Amino acid sequence: MTEPLNPSPVDPADTRTAELAGRLAVVGNRIQAAMSSAGKQAAAPRLIVITKFHPAADIRRLADLGVRDVGENRDQEAAAKAVELADCGLTWHFVGQVQTKKAKSVARYAAAVHSVDRPQLVDALAKAIAVEQAGSGRADLECFIQVGLDEDAAEGRGGAAPAVVPHLADQVAAAAGLRLAGVMAVAPLGVDPEAAFEKLARVSAELVAQHPDAGAISAGMSQDLEAAIKFGATHLRIGSDILGTRPALG
Ligand SMILES: *Cc1c(COP(=O)(O)O)cnc(C)c1O
Repeated sequence: MTEPLNPSPVDPADTRTAELAGRLAVVGNRIQAAMSSAGKQAAAPRLIVITKFHPAADIRRLADLGVRDVGENRDQEAAAKAVELADCGLTWHFVGQVQTKKAKSVARYAAAVHSVDRPQLVDALAKAIAVEQAGSGRADLECFIQVGLDEDAAEGRGGAAPAVVPHLADQVAAAAGLRLAGVMAVAPLGVDPEAAFEKLARVSAELVAQHPDAGAISAGMSQDLEAAIKFGATHLRIGSDILGTRPALG
């Protein structure tokens, strides 16, 4: 056992914890308001707090405040934090571009990858999960297919073109150890987020017609969570409105 005899939880009275609690409450209220103005009766979407560039101490504070889902976009940073915070019972979501050679590492700590965007990555993740499952018996990896919503910039903010989503979906669904969750997108810059998320909802509906259990929609960031909820987001990825501006690291 390497656990300290006297684990020191974050002092709930420290000012940073109070600040995070206040920001979490504001975001929670925005989510509730968006749900009611969209007339949604369903359960509130799952809130994933995107903690990239913020220190592990902040993630520990969030865990103490009841946050269960956190997201990161760089493997090196995420892997280190997941080890350091292994006692927090967090669910780790990977939301950034995954280099194929990083699949093995991501498979060690991530419960979900929101950025599955090409066949080679599906293969790499399937191989990596097979190794992990043989070793640790971990659960299947939830996969969201990232959809590129940029009209002309196929290379833009990442994501597969809507036309190739069915092919990727079949590939994920057929891979042992991967579970097809649904779709994910980042609203393109300079585009009305409602139009973008409406398009994503159509891609999702087509996917669900083929894969009825793949109804998850990962959409909505600090600036556009209301639009995402209006168009059926089941998972929100909120960073700066909870943690504040990201420190200017790499
Ligand atoms: C950083 C990031 C977010 C969070 O963005 P905020 O604007 O800080 O809320 C969500 N999704 C992805 C893919 C990200 O990289």
